[in-house]
Amino acid sequence: MTVDPRALKASATFPPQVVAEIQRAADEGVYEIRGFAGKRSVPTFDDLALLGASVSRYPLEGYRERCDTNVTLGTRFAEKPIELKIPITIAGMSFGALGANAKEAIGRAATAMGTSTTTGDGGMTEEERQSSKTLVYQVLPSRYGMNPDDLRRADALEVVLGQGAKPGGGGMLLGHKITERVAGMRDLPVGIDQRSACRHPDWTGPDDLEIKIHELREITSWQVPIYIKVGATRVAYDVALAVKAGADAIVVDGMQGGTAATQDVFMEHVGIPTLPAVRLAVETLKELGLHRKVQLIVSGGIRSGADAAKALALGADAVSIGTAAMIALGCNKPVHLEDYHALGTEPGFCHHCHTGRCPVGVTTQDPDLEARLAPDKGARLLQNYLTTMVLELQTLARACGKSHVLNLEPEDLVALTVEAAAMAQVPLAGTTWIPGKAY
Ligand code: SF4
Repeated sequence: MTVDPRALKASATFPPQVVAEIQRAADEGVYEIRGFAGKRSVPTFDDLALLGASVSRYPLEGYRERCDTNVTLGTRFAEKPIELKIPITIAGMSFGALGANAKEAIGRAATAMGTSTTTGDGGMTEEERQSSKTLVYQVLPSRYGMNPDDLRRADALEVVLGQGAKPGGGGMLLGHKITERVAGMRDLPVGIDQRSACRHPDWTGPDDLEIKIHELREITSWQVPIYIKVGATRVAYDVALAVKAGADAIVVDGMQGGTAATQDVFMEHVGIPTLPAVRLAVETLKELGLHRKVQLIVSGGIRSGADAAKALALGADAVSIGTAAMIALGCNKPVHLEDYHALGTEPGFCHHCHTGRCPVGVTTQDPDLEARLAPDKGARLLQNYLTTMVLELQTLARACGKSHVLNLEPEDLVALTVEAAAMAQVPLAGTTWIPGKAY
């Protein structure tokens, strides 16, 4: 019997996925926990376009004229700011969420590219320290793996106040990923689900944060930069207070940022997209007279050299990638299909980092699965991806007539939608109109 297509009209309010989620909740009585990143559609850098040069502007020749990519982070107070060859860094991802091989591969690739990588909730592994020339050490609310000696072995510190995937919430690590090594580093029992704290236990507000940062500077003899990372919500206030507390650099992580495990409702419904977050952070730094003096690193859904170019044009000093780095390592690659199917998913749709059964060996502590990602192979893949991003970034910057990627500017951008024009405060393409701006 053929089904009349009119009988298959889906409800806009209750489409099949919503029906399925309500019924899952009715069966299980608990919210969904998953990894990866938010999946809903929000305005992104795709909603902006760059204005390449032609007559009124002069493009640079790709094969003969340089377009530099170096950036220095942490110039405000630190004795030893971080010098990077490219303005694309690797975001914090924990050992525990990721396997040791993935962490080592990331460290090797970052070192080869002249950029930094970052620890995560769970401390610094020896493989990671050894493979990473420039390693940023995260200081997190959970204190998992916190070690004063490791603070002094780091090239920069990042005080994490929030994460784009779950601003206001703590991390999760489900028991099947807590092996003896992970448990040992975090002082936790093996195999028991853990929820990290959502706020630091030793300070309650911006004034305390200032004292905390001073303490970290004393521990590290004022040598290394101290970043403050915030999940993008009330960006203007948060950036202003982070600057007041003494940050050398600010990391703003938009709502498209990833995580290894949190509630689905958090990823999809908390925070603001990266696009308006960049503009708000830059505006705040400019108002304080500290734009380019307190550096801004932007993360959350950065995927390509085009995304990087547009974030830099809006005023960021660097971007940071997490989910995209995992994808370069093999996340969601169409191999080992039977293992995706065992998780109830397909390559391209997987968000099962929380299970510890990662089919490609990135987010697992299982020795057999982890063996699928050899550090040298992973490093080569990530290095290729970063090289491609940088080439794309330079190509776009040269087309806009810039001899350094940090010379990209808002004047090089237009918006393709009214929403993006309002959020980024650049004109809608073909007009001089910026929503909300008085002329
Ligand atoms: S393939 Fe692995 S890293 Fe990627 S979403 Fe699935 S479990 Fe996570």
